[in-house]
Amino acid sequence: HQARLVQHEKLAGIGRLAAGVAHEINNPLGVILGYVRLLQRRAEGALAEDLRVVEEEAVRCQDIVEGLLDLARPGRGPLEPVALRDACEEVVLRLREATRLGPQGSVSVEVHGEGTAWAQAPRLRQVLLNLVKNAAEAAGEGGRVEVRIAADADGASRVAVSDSGPGMSSEARARLFEPFFTTKPSGTGLGLAVSQAIAEAHGGRIDVDAGPLGGARFTLSLPAPSREQEAAA
Ligand code: ADP
Ligand code: MG
Repeated sequence: HQARLVQHEKLAGIGRLAAGVAHEINNPLGVILGYVRLLQRRAEGALAEDLRVVEEEAVRCQDIVEGLLDLARPGRGPLEPVALRDACEEVVLRLREATRLGPQGSVSVEVHGEGTAWAQAPRLRQVLLNLVKNAAEAAGEGGRVEVRIAADADGASRVAVSDSGPGMSSEARARLFEPFFTTKPSGTGLGLAVSQAIAEAHGGRIDVDAGPLGGARFTLSLPAPSREQEAAA
């Protein structure tokens, strides 16, 4: 309805602007990061600590630029069958490398179920990564995340990501998918906006409700493939 339309126009506007600006920002940002990393190798003590902050913030700028580019082109390309179980487990592994995700880490993550989605594989992985990352961040130290994959007989599929975190306020819930809405001190607020744009570009969507683990549950739904897609596989 109306809110959705406004949201779409906002995204399209941001996208056009971003595509132009991102290109210009990316190069100098790359140079800044290159020099910071060079300086870090020679620095010690407090200076090294300060340079680490510079590096972190520059990486955050890169994340924002990348997120804006993703909003500009959520993707319209050939679809391929993606094994959801493998995709989810890959995402968990990647996050485990970057953060302290269980079993060795502090958040335990379980993946259940099987299914195949027709999607642009890298884009779909990006959505799964965003949802699992948010869930792990919400669950926090000692928390739990559960990923449930389900497939219908006709080929439609769903991936539900639940966490044991605090859930969200009704204000947050109303604004989750807005670009730049974040309640995290160093969040970009682009993860869910990009994810929703990608889901919609695939003819699907992301819904939120209260999950079985006490926190939120984000469900990605993707439609069944068309006859042509299946025939082409
Ligand atoms: P970011 O993670 O950078 O804040 P996102 O777009 O991924 O941006 O998420 C936007 C906001 O939605 C988060 O800051 C948080 O307030 C809320 N949110 C997302 N996932 C969850 C979750 N699993 N539980 C509670 N709140 C969530
Ligand atoms: Mg996020």
